[in-house]
Amino acid sequence: MVEWNNLLPQGADLLLEWVAQPLLFNLGLGGWVEDAYEACEWVLWGLIELTVMVALMWPLQKLWPAERVSALHGAQRQSAIRVDVIYTMIHRLGLFRLVFFMAFNAPIDAVMGSLRQAGWPTYHLEQWLPGLADQAVLSFLVYLVVLDFVNYWIHRAQHQWSWWWALHAVHHSQRVMTFWSDSRNHLLDDVVVAFVGVILAQMIGVPPSQFVLLVVLTQLAQSLQHANVRWSWGPLEWLWVSPRFHRFHHSMGAGHEFSPGVLGGHNFGVLLPWWDVLFGTANFDNRYDPTGIRQMVGVQEVYGDGFWQQQRLGLKRMWRSLRSPPR
Ligand SMILES: [Zn+2]
Ligand SMILES: [Zn+2]
Repeated sequence: MVEWNNLLPQGADLLLEWVAQPLLFNLGLGGWVEDAYEACEWVLWGLIELTVMVALMWPLQKLWPAERVSALHGAQRQSAIRVDVIYTMIHRLGLFRLVFFMAFNAPIDAVMGSLRQAGWPTYHLEQWLPGLADQAVLSFLVYLVVLDFVNYWIHRAQHQWSWWWALHAVHHSQRVMTFWSDSRNHLLDDVVVAFVGVILAQMIGVPPSQFVLLVVLTQLAQSLQHANVRWSWGPLEWLWVSPRFHRFHHSMGAGHEFSPGVLGGHNFGVLLPWWDVLFGTANFDNRYDPTGIRQMVGVQEVYGDGFWQQQRLGLKRMWRSLRSPPR
């Protein structure tokens, strides 16, 4: 009989034995073998995510498109989408996570060490809500709400601070939004967000098994939000971020208008629209505008269709905004 709950660890074992170990030894990186098991688990989760995306979200885009991309964007459509596929492969198939953990494990431990020295304890659910830690589903939901609240403010900062906007604008520069577009982020932007997320999860005591599930659920929900699908949750639109809700955030000239130092825009929520409702940034208009960033000299600029071009321009524009902060 197939034991479903053992499939993932068994798959990770196989991947470690047949792919990761030989590769690491050949590259002279044998010391990393112990850490590689975790990376193998992430690769398997990434494969599951990609399967769900292609098997479910791709047909949805065909059945209920928010915009007919072939008519709108002509020949540029394919190269615009192709770069998002590259971002998705880097991000979801473990490469980003592997490099992140190899480079940032030590700095994360150092930050946690200095936080503890400075008197910041690790919080546990048991302290806030006695008895809840034993309830796996309930504690998972509490962690989801807490992390989502912080992610709302991270997203507002990505639009508020001009150096961060220079990086986050890579995400917003896509005019052909599909379920591949969620991973289209400047790599430095991804690093900053992942760094803050890991520190926070450790500080509030999220168990590693729940952290993996939280990341997978968040990534799948975000892929669906970016899908080219004309979907809203109707009267339940306030409950969970829908494709319509997030597409409005990407709307050109309406959802995320930025002028240096001044916040504009709506629908910053990552999973829950609650924070947008609470802090006055929610927009529930049932509309589907063209997406992308406007070309306004000195304020908004295009980032091109090439991966390296986008990475280079993001860094260059970030550097420029750090050197001459808006007054
Ligand atoms: Zn944004
Ligand atoms: Zn987005």
